[in-house]
Amino acid sequence: MKWNSVKPDIKIHSLHSVINEIGFMYGIAFINTNENYLLLCFQSCWDKIIKHLKPHKVEMGGLIIGKIHEDQSLDKTIVLLEDIVVSNDHKSTSVSLEMGAGIWSEANSNKNNDQAVVGWYHSHPNLGAFFSGTDVKNQKANFNSAFHFGLVIDPFRDEYAIFRGAESKPINLSNFFIGDNHAWLALGTTV
Ligand SMILES: [Zn+2]
Repeated sequence: MKWNSVKPDIKIHSLHSVINEIGFMYGIAFINTNENYLLLCFQSCWDKIIKHLKPHKVEMGGLIIGKIHEDQSLDKTIVLLEDIVVSNDHKSTSVSLEMGAGIWSEANSNKNNDQAVVGWYHSHPNLGAFFSGTDVKNQKANFNSAFHFGLVIDPFRDEYAIFRGAESKPINLSNFFIGDNHAWLALGTTV
């Protein structure tokens, strides 16, 4: 996958304000974990990602919009995944995907002032969930902040992988939660 263009502005929220988004009980629980990087994907957002990727035998992808909650002194970041922008302007084959630059302006017009593009997702149909050399380069070029992540899904093998920041550091699936204000389950345990 390749991308290039202008990135939207980035708004950072306080770590504590995650409580306003997911409620006191889970908010406090996530703030108090020993993990320094957590991704919380609302069920509605997850359903959109899967619905987008699942039917296709060629690579598909898009941007993920959400909110960044961070306390730099604690070195702790909680990212909420709220919505997606599907790449419609793309060329895809079974092994590659190139997205058009227009997706960034589409993301800008679809997000509100509290939100940012927090990461990107794409599929590897029946290839397995990993980052290719091109994926690593894309992440370094376009998703190089410490809060940024890339999510890659093989919808045929039900495999998932997550990579963080400029260096595409692998993130354990147990740091990726799917849910809503009633329950949150780590990715490995829900699918
Ligand atoms: Zn890829």
